[in-house]
Amino acid sequence: MIIGYSMLVMSFVYLTVMSISYYSKKRIKNSENKLYNILIIVTFMGIFLETSCIYMVPIRDIHPVLNELANRSYLLYILAWVFLFTKYILIISIDNKKKISIKIKENIKKVNNLMIFAFVACSATLIFLPLYYHYDGVYTYSYGPATTALFIHIAIAIAIWLLSLFINLKTVGYKKYIPLFVFILGVTLNMIIRLYNPGVLLITVTQVLITVVMYFTIENPDVQMIEQLNIARDRADRANNAKTEFLSSMSHEIRTPLNAIDGFSQLILEEDNIDTIKEEAKDIMAASQNLLEIVNGILDISKIEADKLEIVNVEYEPTKIFEEVGKLAKSRIGEKPVEFKTHIAEDLPDYLNGDYTRIKQITLNLLTNAVKYTKNGYVDFSVRCVTQDDICRLIIMVKDTGIGIKKENVDKLFEKFERFDKEQNITIEGTGLGLAITKKLVNLMNGRIIADSRYGTGSIFAVVIDQRIVNKKKEENVEVVSNKSIFTNANILIVDDNKINLKVASRLLESYKVKTETMDSGFECIEKIKSGYKYDLILMDDMMPKMSGTETLKELKKFSNFNTPVVALTANAIAGMKEKYLSEGFDDYISKPIDKKELERVLNKYLN
Ligand code: ADP
Repeated sequence: MIIGYSMLVMSFVYLTVMSISYYSKKRIKNSENKLYNILIIVTFMGIFLETSCIYMVPIRDIHPVLNELANRSYLLYILAWVFLFTKYILIISIDNKKKISIKIKENIKKVNNLMIFAFVACSATLIFLPLYYHYDGVYTYSYGPATTALFIHIAIAIAIWLLSLFINLKTVGYKKYIPLFVFILGVTLNMIIRLYNPGVLLITVTQVLITVVMYFTIENPDVQMIEQLNIARDRADRANNAKTEFLSSMSHEIRTPLNAIDGFSQLILEEDNIDTIKEEAKDIMAASQNLLEIVNGILDISKIEADKLEIVNVEYEPTKIFEEVGKLAKSRIGEKPVEFKTHIAEDLPDYLNGDYTRIKQITLNLLTNAVKYTKNGYVDFSVRCVTQDDICRLIIMVKDTGIGIKKENVDKLFEKFERFDKEQNITIEGTGLGLAITKKLVNLMNGRIIADSRYGTGSIFAVVIDQRIVNKKKEENVEVVSNKSIFTNANILIVDDNKINLKVASRLLESYKVKTETMDSGFECIEKIKSGYKYDLILMDDMMPKMSGTETLKELKKFSNFNTPVVALTANAIAGMKEKYLSEGFDDYISKPIDKKELERVLNKYLN
């Protein structure tokens, strides 16, 4: 008894000293740490409970209820400690370095519920099974079915600890693994000793010892701080590497079409044959288109990251949109022996309400990938619609007989910057952004995207998006009469500090037979308007030195008789720019490179 008391007193002293040191340091707040806090408190309770048991058993005839209470509580304490330790081992098995996915979170919840249930069930055995007591003047202990049940629970827990450590060897790491393994060994030895010598009171002492040693090996705030710093450094390193890789791949992606533009332009300068010139001009256009898609991809990703990607629903003709996209993708096959099959269901509604530009982008992305990653065989593009009330569930499918994607990569497909089979795909252009953007867009439209692939055989991508049906009959295909000649008398001013931009804009306007005048600064424009000169439309660049387009517009608006529409014509095309320019007082917005359709829309709107 004396030995039992003195060991407990020593344990108390150790635990107190360690706790003072532990609580006096700054700690990191994570679930592992919180659990260790509880473990310390519970261990203190254990010392108190075991002391009361040693005291109560010899006088159990005088205070039978108190004795029963003390001993049962002590058994419950041991059980609680074992459960806390189990939870601790499970928590440190989760990889801190990775973000915890929703699936893991759900699993953690399930395990927690299971543990609570198991604790209640095990506690019941300790509360209700018979418990007997022994005191022979030297040794005090309890025995019987309740203690046997406790031993069984502990044995099961030891098996779970070992299994969990073994399965999660990598995530736990050897620094934690070795002390934990020693602890488990300690608990097992303790159990064996207790089985053969029930009078040796070692359980609480061992638990105190483990708690104290854990402080020095795993839970010391200093050790934890260093570990957290290491994790943070690893994360920063990874982000930095991703950025470097992205920049180098961007440099390659941007230089490739630029090389084509530059090379063909030089060839055109030396070429006299008009047909060859036209062919080369087409190649330049294709390369520019490619460059524009890369830049738009980067802008979309920046919008996604700033949570600014928006869905704008308007009325559109689905068949027309899908036919257009199909044609565009088909034209990208080039010389490859790849057949392009299109199946657009005839029963698609005439009009739907939705963001057709984004639907087009999603479809084109999947089709372009199929075309890019297929060397021979076919690309099958199909669109169907399942109608319910006024909703058309669009099912867009793209199937190819291309190189396919390895099983382990299918899950990573929609992560940004992910490109697979780099050795094989070295000649295929791509940024690894397309599918990340596609997925985000589909999600924004409350749709779903799924991918399935067999490496070496082909892939299949399916997108399902609900669109509202617009009850309107298709208008007869009226021959669209070209409006170009209508603008013959219009007088347009273009203001831009860049000479090439001025040239491109005036050349594009030439085909509408308008009169154009160019100026390279806002000052010049203000002077001209001040002198009383009138234009029908002004296309104004914004980013100009000394005086920006916005500042120029402000000055122009000060003239009482100034009522010319001014359209912002700018390469500043990041999220929210259109809205910004409109709020600054511009009448409209066109982004560079100038899309002819956009230009035509603006001319029709302001010159008719
Ligand atoms: P990328 O610009 O590289 O094509 P994506 O995000 O569109 O970027 O695609 C990511 C990666 O997924 C590609 O680099 C490619 O390895 C793989 N991939 C996408 N679509 C297909 C496909 N149809 N067949 C084979 N691999 C594909």
